Amino acid sequence: MNTLVRVDLQAPGFAGATLTTSRSGAAERPTRAEAEQAVKTLIRWAGDDPTREGLIETPARVVRAYQQWFAGYQQDPAEHLRRTFAEVAGYDEMVVMRDIFFQSHCEHHMAPISGRAHVGYLPHNKVVGISKLVRLVQVFARRLQTQEKMTAQIADTLYDILAPQGVAVVVEGRHGCMTSRGVEQQSATMLTSRMLGVFRDRPETREEFLAAINLDRAGRAPRL
Ligand code: ZN
Repeated sequence: MNTLVRVDLQAPGFAGATLTTSRSGAAERPTRAEAEQAVKTLIRWAGDDPTREGLIETPARVVRAYQQWFAGYQQDPAEHLRRTFAEVAGYDEMVVMRDIFFQSHCEHHMAPISGRAHVGYLPHNKVVGISKLVRLVQVFARRLQTQEKMTAQIADTLYDILAPQGVAVVVEGRHGCMTSRGVEQQSATMLTSRMLGVFRDRPETREEFLAAINLDRAGRAPRL
């Protein structure tokens, strides 16, 4: 049985609502050589010898991996949403993209977070290409994150840029810092959500979204 940790992002005082989307630290970005040197230091801290054969290329590989894992800092999430389509033939029903796989890293341990995001919105005259919703999730996932903050950033950005009638985001995440260290909870899944506009105000619209993503699909939760 999975342990679900529910976090209500609408709760008063939730700090994650304060969004930081800047390319923080870009000005003082260290050189690649400095970054590789830092990896060598961590290898030595772990207790190994960074000059032995098997590890000699590791700092360079880690730095290249970082470029991919943290590519989100170089991207503007709004850019992906600017191209919209107004010709929707009067379509005014919910658009839902579910099971968007993401890979992120927690900002407390830099441990991997993997999971799925479900993104829905109710259009107001315009829609975005569905791949843009995937890009939106990836831009925020490829940064150091908390799941709560990432969920809020995805929802708020879509709401601000597309100006739909409402946005709903549910994120399911498994946190490496919980599965491999600390409390060692292999199957604990964290669930966060943010509902804006009609999804927040109209229970039946919210229910329709939750039914569409069908979180309780049998056998589905453990396969993160
Ligand atoms: Zn962590």
